[in-house]
Amino acid sequence: MLLLLACTTTPVVGNPDILHSALSFQLEKLEGTAELSVLPPEGATEVSLEIGDLEISEVQVNGTDVATEQKAGKLNVPTEGTEEQTIFIRYSFSTHENYIGWGPTRGESFTWPYYCGNLFPCNSELEDGSTYDLELRGVPGQQVAVYPQKISAEAPAYTPAFVVGDYTETPIGTTTGGTRLSVWTRPGDLEAMLDGTSLLVQTFGFLEKTYGPYTFGDHAGSVSVEWGEEYGGMENHPYWHISGWALRSQEVHTHEAAHAWFGTGVRFACWEDFVLSEGTTSYISGRALEEVGGPNLFTTYVAEMDLFCGTEEDVSTLPNGCNEIDIATDPLWSMVPYMKGACFYEDVADQIGVDRVDEIIATFYQNHVGTAVRMEDMLDAIRAELKTEEKAAFEERVQLWLLNEKCPTDYAERCGKHGN
Ligand SMILES: [Zn+2]
Repeated sequence: MLLLLACTTTPVVGNPDILHSALSFQLEKLEGTAELSVLPPEGATEVSLEIGDLEISEVQVNGTDVATEQKAGKLNVPTEGTEEQTIFIRYSFSTHENYIGWGPTRGESFTWPYYCGNLFPCNSELEDGSTYDLELRGVPGQQVAVYPQKISAEAPAYTPAFVVGDYTETPIGTTTGGTRLSVWTRPGDLEAMLDGTSLLVQTFGFLEKTYGPYTFGDHAGSVSVEWGEEYGGMENHPYWHISGWALRSQEVHTHEAAHAWFGTGVRFACWEDFVLSEGTTSYISGRALEEVGGPNLFTTYVAEMDLFCGTEEDVSTLPNGCNEIDIATDPLWSMVPYMKGACFYEDVADQIGVDRVDEIIATFYQNHVGTAVRMEDMLDAIRAELKTEEKAAFEERVQLWLLNEKCPTDYAERCGKHGN
């Protein structure tokens, strides 16, 4: 009986800590290979990788072929102990035109929030960050692929991306921190791109100088992408994507660049902490643009709030729980964490001073870059710097902007006058 039990031990499956992902894509044949350096979780006999709709043809662990199990978009791979090990996977992938993988018609890969598995074997949990090597082969003749060969600091699994098309690179300058910036455009959109990025070397330099060094290499910039009627961008560092409609927006270029500090650099541990990514990014990009004489984003944020404050779209910025919501369908996927989040910092800056808030954000970034933390950790970092007599007014701001379901009644007055 004991012997029989020993023979039928059920596997213990866990999500791996993926340290590094070396990914190669053959676009013509829709084939890929992934060489993942992983740490299995304590006690696991198998690690589970997300594989979306990939078709797996070969799996090796530390150079030896292994038998694997596939179920519901997951690939379970046997582990060899708890040491770091290399999982090699050969596979083919499908095309997706609806922003959940490789979309050849638009010429862009897009995997936010958790569609990495349609492009490469991955762990989309925000907790997990990986560094990446990327290689693209089989790019159609005459077309240019724009992607980083390396993502040199840990980033969430939605970060690696590529575009393919009639792209031209135009260098726009080097920041005071030493980062070379370029823009990549398609025929007809260079003028709009240069207009929208005319302050980017300065704002990027402000972010480096004020909050800490950029960690995703020494070359970065904005890539024009085809999103049809969609407006915005995607923080695919170091070459983030900007939709055609947003090319002239200083706000959008600065915002996607600033995600290198929050969202991509300092990761948020739970989707409920989305404000740590979007609110902090919206605040520091507002800071950057005001410092270099750009547009005042805080009045823009108030105008955005005019659209949802007092409507059913207004929700709590910082809901309870951790990874209990589906960000793609939850009401939190809205302008709320961006705008109420940015205005929270703005209102705290009105209370304790812009420079002190910058210093707290800088220390927090430098202490946590490359890791996943909670918004509550940021609040505790602010609390730790407050004088006793400042605490009550700070907690009132936490309540008004982050916890309450409804916007503060005086939101426009509170947020629209930054630095006053
Ligand atoms: Zn953002």
